[in-house]
Amino acid sequence: MPFHDQHVHSNQSVDSQADPAECVENALNHGLSGITFLEHFDPHPAEWDECIYDDQRYSATIESLRSDSGNRLFIGKGIEVGYCRDRMDFALDFLSRHQFDLVMLSDHFFEDRALHVREEWAGLDATEGTRRFLQEMLEVARFCESVHQGGHHVFHVLGHLDLAKRYTSRFFDTNATPLCSDLIDEILRTCIAANLVPEINTSTLRQGLDEPMPGIKTIVRYAKLGGTAMSIGSDAHLAEHVGADLDHAARLLRAAGLNHVALFKDGKRIDVPLEQGCCDPL
Ligand SMILES: [Zn+2]
Ligand SMILES: [Zn+2]
Repeated sequence: MPFHDQHVHSNQSVDSQADPAECVENALNHGLSGITFLEHFDPHPAEWDECIYDDQRYSATIESLRSDSGNRLFIGKGIEVGYCRDRMDFALDFLSRHQFDLVMLSDHFFEDRALHVREEWAGLDATEGTRRFLQEMLEVARFCESVHQGGHHVFHVLGHLDLAKRYTSRFFDTNATPLCSDLIDEILRTCIAANLVPEINTSTLRQGLDEPMPGIKTIVRYAKLGGTAMSIGSDAHLAEHVGADLDHAARLLRAAGLNHVALFKDGKRIDVPLEQGCCDPL
């Protein structure tokens, strides 16, 4: 099965300079069946002033990319909303007025501490920081569940659920996720109950870690608890990273006994089988 990268940032996100047309070109060069842009929408007060999200510009870009590429691959318009407890009404109002193929909710903060800033880990060791981050991720998953109404899902995918390990690896040279399996299980159970799909985000494989977010143990737990499919994405911020390590993510899915990836088009979930032979099990 050709892969569909469901997590790409272009220069419509504040932290990327990537030309969207180059991202599509790279997706085609990699033989991908689809690329979904997930531009940052960061309502957190520390980020909103810098957030350059512009829906009109973004929609026009997607339209022109679609007409230039014909039917050679699917080009998705998605959004990565950053969780901020006090600003979710604002985000929900925005989402109710705009149309997306895929809406991801992710968290780049915990207790108002920016994960990527070393000083904001003051007073915490890797394990305590990871626990507090995962506690907030559980809140994020429960929030998604609370705003689902009937068959309508505001949020489709939960982004990089164990993101703390990217920073504990950098700041403390350790990954404390395995010490928090109780919280991981609770997050996964909530996802399954809420029909919220966790992603496998391969960016950590380019950043010196030996596993994506999440790693194989969490993917196996997800399958054991009843999960059936996950979303896969590179979280590329450079055109050359589009499609990176999606085959690795697919191998982990298969190793966990999950034989489908969850794709989103026009807000609808489609579980697509990972065909036999497309990747060898680990
Ligand atoms: Zn993110
Ligand atoms: Zn992202």
